[in-house]
Amino acid sequence: MLTLPDFPVRQRDFLLEISRAITAQLDLSEVLRRVLEASVIMIAGRVGVIALHDAKDGSFRVRAYKGIQREQVADLNDQLNAFINTVSAGTERNQLDQQLKEMASSLNSDLVQAVAMPLVFADNPLGLLIVFRSYEASVTPNDMQILQSFADQAAIAVNNAQMFQRIKQEQQRLSAILQHSADGVVILNADLEILQVNRSFEQMTGWSTDQAVGQSLDAVIVWQKIEGQDLQDAVAQGWPTRRSVQAPHADTFYVEGDLLRQDGLTLSIGITYAPLFGQDGKLTTIIGNLRDITNFRRAQEMQNVFISTVSHELRTPVALIKGYASTLMRPDAQWNEDVIRNSLQVIEEESDRLTTLIDDLLTASRIQADHGVQLQLGDVRLDLIAASAVERLQLQTSKHRFVVSFPNGFPSMQGDAKLLRQVIENLITNAIKYSPNGGTITVGGRFTDENVTFFVRDEGVGIPETEMSRVFTRFYRIDNKWAATTKGTGLGLFLAKSIIEAHGGTINVKSQVDHGSTFFFTIPRD
Ligand code: ADP
Repeated sequence: MLTLPDFPVRQRDFLLEISRAITAQLDLSEVLRRVLEASVIMIAGRVGVIALHDAKDGSFRVRAYKGIQREQVADLNDQLNAFINTVSAGTERNQLDQQLKEMASSLNSDLVQAVAMPLVFADNPLGLLIVFRSYEASVTPNDMQILQSFADQAAIAVNNAQMFQRIKQEQQRLSAILQHSADGVVILNADLEILQVNRSFEQMTGWSTDQAVGQSLDAVIVWQKIEGQDLQDAVAQGWPTRRSVQAPHADTFYVEGDLLRQDGLTLSIGITYAPLFGQDGKLTTIIGNLRDITNFRRAQEMQNVFISTVSHELRTPVALIKGYASTLMRPDAQWNEDVIRNSLQVIEEESDRLTTLIDDLLTASRIQADHGVQLQLGDVRLDLIAASAVERLQLQTSKHRFVVSFPNGFPSMQGDAKLLRQVIENLITNAIKYSPNGGTITVGGRFTDENVTFFVRDEGVGIPETEMSRVFTRFYRIDNKWAATTKGTGLGLFLAKSIIEAHGGTINVKSQVDHGSTFFFTIPRD
């Protein structure tokens, strides 16, 4: 038993020990154990429990106990929750005391009194501290004050632990967002040294986290080509200018160019830098967001190429039509019938070319808008379409020999006749265009019970292996001397592929540079 003069000294020692445990960041259970130990000793109890409020389900659960068995905890939890409900219902004091007494005796028949104290932090009820005594004595204001001092310490520890938990979860969430972001992220200090990077950054730059962290930004972000200023120059010239804590992201800086990766390859990227400021308004951190803009650039390039090719393709026939029409209309000239017929023939051919071009453009934009091709199905004979296409197109060339080769009994199939004719005419036109020295063009087919295959073979310039899959993309033309000298928009094979795929088929090419190409497609018969 403590003697009276020892009392405040002992209490102070306990409080000191507990606050040390809190500052030393000992885990919550350990702090609660010490609080309980001190409380039970100081008010001469035999049993003590601390129950904490669980914000998720609103219940109270014992988190530290002294003087009872582990098996008793479940039952005690139920009694505690029943008690808290009674308290919340605003029940009479006497009845509460009675309930506490019952709780005490159910724990141990020796226990006759319970002293309870709520754990409160900043008006938030966090839990309950109860000390049970084996003798009945009046609970003095001193008892209450002692218990209060320990309950306050416990409340601080619980609040710290909950805050720590929340911050840890928040940190984990942020770190997951950072790591899994499709954009590259780099975090810099005010001296432009790298503090952290994410996985996408590693993939874009070829630098691993270990290599990049600690480096200065310009050692890692090396531009082969840059548009405008780099971050270093911008900072030297006073960026960020708006040093505001309220609007930390207001003054971003964007830079774009071709990044020289660590492995020597290049990548088109855009980086947006956002500054973060400390409470004193000083720049503390810069967050850089890297975006791969290769596709965007490619699309832009395609669009430019497209606009220039299409306008060129439109202008040539229009100029011819206009030229021949004006010539025929000259009032001062008398044209003989041959000249008139030839001129009208040119006008007709060029009008056809315009129509084909416009049809191609319309089909392409429709495919894009509808996300596919709408088919008007019917019975189609590819061999007949091929024969009539050859008959028409061979008039355009005198250099080429045409062979049409279909096996007997070539079957009809289900398909869209108009679109399939467009594909076949396109393949034959390409065969003529890309064999400028002439040669044989063979158009033919094969069939099985399930499929029909159609092919066009030429002896022309051929296609390099690396370009074979790309020729089917929209507006793509192989960048060689033939592209400069032949007319085209780079739409034909894109359309062919879309149309064949809409029929459930596949289209492909076999080719050898300078020896010729064979384009072939296979479609299910029904
Ligand atoms: P276009 O002929 O209008 O340029 P296409 O989409 O029909 O567009 O063809 C795309 C590119 O594929 C052409 O620019 C050409 O470089 C290449 N190509 C197509 N057909 C052949 C062929 N038979 N032989 C060689 N190259 C071809």
